[in-house]
Amino acid sequence: MHSKVVIIGSGPAGLTAALYAARANLEPLVVRGLQPGGLIATTSEVENYPGFVDGIGGYELAENIEKQAARFGAQFKDALIKGIDASARPFVLTTDGGETITADTLIVSTGASPRKLGVPGEEQLLNRGVSYCATCDGFFFRGKKVVVVGGGNSALDEGLFLTRYVSELIIVHRRDSLRADPVLQERAFSNEKVRFVWDSTVDEVLGDERVSGVRIRNLKTGEVTEETADGVFPYIGHIPNSGLFQGLLDLDEGGYILTDGRTRTNVPGIFAAGDVVDHIYRQAITAAGEGCMAAMEATWFLAEQEHATKKASQAETEQVTSPALGQW
Ligand code: NAP
Repeated sequence: MHSKVVIIGSGPAGLTAALYAARANLEPLVVRGLQPGGLIATTSEVENYPGFVDGIGGYELAENIEKQAARFGAQFKDALIKGIDASARPFVLTTDGGETITADTLIVSTGASPRKLGVPGEEQLLNRGVSYCATCDGFFFRGKKVVVVGGGNSALDEGLFLTRYVSELIIVHRRDSLRADPVLQERAFSNEKVRFVWDSTVDEVLGDERVSGVRIRNLKTGEVTEETADGVFPYIGHIPNSGLFQGLLDLDEGGYILTDGRTRTNVPGIFAAGDVVDHIYRQAITAAGEGCMAAMEATWFLAEQEHATKKASQAETEQVTSPALGQW
């Protein structure tokens, strides 16, 4: 399988890159990865993506961009990329199914994954009360008591979504003020199902077969308390999905791929966009914007390569057909 543009990851960055590359007649191939649609597809309601007056579901937004890209010829493949040989072009990618894909250019838009609390019980009780996706699992907590950890937009946004189902929501935050947007703070403070536990962290997720509670430590007083709960949703930020590119692409100390401001990485022909690059804005719209930039850069890169190859073969022909000076 060969493509002029292979896009790894199918969040807003990857899908927008696919749309632009497809409209440039490059027939891009999107390797969807672990989370088709990216993190946005697990978000309940997106209210700040321009063009949707009443907001749009995260899954629906991702699905729409994918359909839009497919309309112009983008191809999609459900697979994970396990290996990349970028020592020469075309790049050679290996999938988890053992297939080989070659690519003239590569757009990396692998996004970021939820950061784990890293406390006892979290991993053992995953999908048995511990979840990182309120949209996917909120329904299962109807009438239950649930703990959300974090004080950013995700914690409040997803926490507020959970209040559609749960009887009680406790938000545990490590400081006494929130990072989330004021509009979300106002909604959370005025929601009678929501209670905040300030200056505290969750030290342990309790339970045998299922989550039965959490152990909470107050960071100011050191006091440790237990709170009963049926579910725990950590929303404490994200880590970039860049493990595959270690040793190949330049990364910063947080693991984010370094680009030159024009989505170009240190390897000519490899571009990066979205949450795997951006640790500042991390919005669907900024990821989409970067996806657009990456596709345009890839298009220009391919055109330059084509031009250089044509010139080189022209020069070769001229050398063959015109005799050397001494032969006249
Ligand atoms: P975030 O903004 O980085 O917030 C992470 C939260 O978790 C912070 O409150 C942080 O506390 C806390 N935290 C971090 N590490 C922790 C730890 N080890 N233990 C306990 N708490 C910890 O991440 P996010 O909320 O996932 O948002 C990511 C990006 O997506 C942001 O740019 C956000 O604006 C965007 N987003 C936007 C929307 C929206 O606009 N509707 C919705 C979701 C996400 P501190 O505050 O003390 O640092």
